[in-house]
Amino acid sequence: MAAVSQVGVVGAGAAGLGVAIFLADAGIEVEILEKTDAPSTWGSGITLQGNALRVLRQLGLWERISEHGYAFNELGLRAPDPNGTVLAIVDDALMGGEDLPATLGMNRPELASIMRERAREAGVKISYGKSVESIHDDGTRVQVHTADGDKHDYDLLIGADGIHSTVRRALGIETEPESTGMGIWRAFVPRPPEVVRTDLTYGGTCYIAGYCPTGEEHMYAYLVEQAQDRHDVHDAGVMADLAANYGGPWTEIRKYLQNGAQVNYTRFTTHLVEGNWHRGRTVIIGDAAHSCPPTIAQGAAMALEDAAVLAELLINSETLDERLWEQFHDRRLERAGAVVNASAQLGQWLFDGNKDADVPGLLATLAARLVVPA
Ligand SMILES: Cc1cc2nc3c(=O)[nH]c(=O)nc-3n(C[C@H](O)[C@H](O)[C@H](O)COP(=O)(O)OP(=O)(O)OC[C@H]3O[C@@H](n4cnc5c(N)ncnc54)[C@H](O)[C@@H]3O)c2cc1C
Repeated sequence: MAAVSQVGVVGAGAAGLGVAIFLADAGIEVEILEKTDAPSTWGSGITLQGNALRVLRQLGLWERISEHGYAFNELGLRAPDPNGTVLAIVDDALMGGEDLPATLGMNRPELASIMRERAREAGVKISYGKSVESIHDDGTRVQVHTADGDKHDYDLLIGADGIHSTVRRALGIETEPESTGMGIWRAFVPRPPEVVRTDLTYGGTCYIAGYCPTGEEHMYAYLVEQAQDRHDVHDAGVMADLAANYGGPWTEIRKYLQNGAQVNYTRFTTHLVEGNWHRGRTVIIGDAAHSCPPTIAQGAAMALEDAAVLAELLINSETLDERLWEQFHDRRLERAGAVVNASAQLGQWLFDGNKDADVPGLLATLAARLVVPA
């Protein structure tokens, strides 16, 4: 008998869907409360590294995602010159083990849709238009109030409600995401044939220019700049101007941008809830508990690992007690913290223009840690 039998999950992102599938597969009743009225259909791409793929395989999703994504094992480094000169091609760490690729690029809405489909198959109830406003824990159950006036009641509540988590604030946790000073343009565009892996260019008009293939037909491209108030700018022309400095595949990417490709702008943030992620019968996971600039592309991987570890402990324990929470925090806090710190450090080095920084050393140390399952 598991530690819980009726679980509410706030948020249908990677963390929420992941934990819901694991629990429902074990026979636990799970409802996801999601504030949006319907699943989002637009989104850029995502870089899933081996440790994220390992959890997705545990969720029984490897075949489906590998059919839709684009797998590769190398990382290219290019110069910020008109030809986009290739400086090096390095083998990427196989962080999910030898039998998974180093990286799989995917279209975000496609990944979300595959996870939702799997959740429904597992028997998870996903309720849309349910924005959680407040929670009340009476020691045996957690009552949840949503903006539409509904009340819900569970024996455990999992706050997987992202970076601006309402659940985190409702628990009285004061940690909030802080801007790192960088902002990122992203565009989802057709894939030029020569884009067969992620290539990164450090420097030039931006801190980072990069792209990642997400399928035979498509890819996403990104440019990281000093954070600016761009929240009203959805004009691909701004990104096209910034891209003019970069060569190689960027020449073709720029044409798509000039032809009005859809772009998105986001500021980088970072935070880590340093103490316990739970209070009573409520716990936060994923971006609600930690966020990092995507300089190492590990945010979703950490969200999925949180989900896997929490579900494993809930399924294999008989009671929801301090021992369970201790094990959860032992397995998650330091590991997620190492990712947050390394991602922020890499961003800071770029921000400071530090040319002596040991980037390969930082990445190798982190990879050696992440290759060991969470
Ligand atoms: C620019 C950028 C690029 C990134 N690139 C990568 C990458 O390449 N690889 C990678 O691994 N990670 C990447 N990340 C990080 C990754 O996107 C996140 O870490 C991951 O999506 C977190 O998942 P989550 O489920 O915790 O949160 P989210 O995906 O944010 O999901 C939270 C859900 O909760 C819902 N919600 C919020 N509030 C409420 C409420 N009150 N009531 C009900 N529902 C609510 C939201 O609508 C949402 O559906 C990137 C992040 C950024 C900002």
